[in-house]
Amino acid sequence: MATEQVTQRFTELYGAEPDGVWAAPGRVNLIGEHTDYNDGFVMPFALPHRTTAAVSPRTDGLLRLHSADIGAPVTEIAVDDLAPGTDRAWTAYPAGVVWALREAGHPVTGADVHLSSTVPPGAGLSSSAALEVSVALALNDLYGLGLDGGELALLCRRAENAYVGAPVGIMDQTASACCEAGHALFLDTRDLTRRQIPFDLAAEGMRLLVVDTRVEHSHSQGEYGRRREGCERGAALLGVDALRDIPHAELDAALARLGDEEEVRRLVRHVVTENERVRRVVELLRAGDTRAIGPVLVEGHASLRDDFRVSSPELDLTVETALSAGALGARMTGGGFGGSAIVLTDEDTAPAVTKAVEEAFAAARFTAPRTFEAVPSEGARRLR
Ligand code: ADP
Ligand code: MG
Repeated sequence: MATEQVTQRFTELYGAEPDGVWAAPGRVNLIGEHTDYNDGFVMPFALPHRTTAAVSPRTDGLLRLHSADIGAPVTEIAVDDLAPGTDRAWTAYPAGVVWALREAGHPVTGADVHLSSTVPPGAGLSSSAALEVSVALALNDLYGLGLDGGELALLCRRAENAYVGAPVGIMDQTASACCEAGHALFLDTRDLTRRQIPFDLAAEGMRLLVVDTRVEHSHSQGEYGRRREGCERGAALLGVDALRDIPHAELDAALARLGDEEEVRRLVRHVVTENERVRRVVELLRAGDTRAIGPVLVEGHASLRDDFRVSSPELDLTVETALSAGALGARMTGGGFGGSAIVLTDEDTAPAVTKAVEEAFAAARFTAPRTFEAVPSEGARRLR
């Protein structure tokens, strides 16, 4: 059991048993891509893959950090020395959480931390949020801070934005902190309203596969920034705070007003139609019509490929191959330029779809993908 392993390793590293063990999951986004920085809707669910944190508090101002997944000895940092932008290593994520808690006035005076994760890093499955939230929840409990999941998510995002220096939205941390098993989380990224939407695929004889293409394009950071700027420009040209404020019914009028701003028009069209797709998926799931979300996922992929232009040859091949092999729906998930795709299939079609994708990758001479089943799982919690 993971709990016993991390407890034992913690004890070897720090010379005493941890006060407790916590876990926080990675996530995939079912629908709602590149909408979060436009104040829009997202719909992630938690994976069974998770980061486990064994933690004890310290009163002497020392933060000691270790990860089973990194070949490095324990790192020791004085909490008084924590400062944004000073740490370029993995330790910036947990150190950033301690910094953000202290910045918010919470009396965190140090900790011993040992981490171990089953979330593959850099695959677009949010190993970073899993790490942050596992540590934040541990400190919340150990120091009796009384913060709820939404508040912890905000602090974790602050850590990642300000301390690590990654301009991420609020989806990943909220998903890791707040998801529930058998549900997807409908999150309004403007007012942070959360609704749990039943999403129990196994009960309906369906499967959701995640295909990790194992490709991360090196230009993804710069391209992400360009898309963000383009969306801001679109909102400014249309006189709204964010693209969220363009109703789907007014899309054509908005596009007409953008005239010959071709790139901005494409970005706006994606964001407005994607928000609408999230609403449709919510309605379909609420009505118990899970199969019908397949075509909505496919539409979302086409929009990301053709309008937002963040797909990759590996992601496109995954989607095309899966659909040809009988999948109900498929789309890239996450920021794009590599990372993972999701595929919705009937239970008995899943093996054939997996095989077809593997064969297509081999024929195209792509790196072999890693495919696994994603069961909507529980959010962060204490294990012992
Ligand atoms: P993603 O969140 O999609 O997996 P990110 O680039 O946001 O990708 O975060 C990955 C980074 O998070 C890793 O490079 C590493 O620095 C840190 N990280 C995630 N999980 C762990 C872990 N278990 N141990 C140490 N560092 C981790
Ligand atoms: Mg991340």
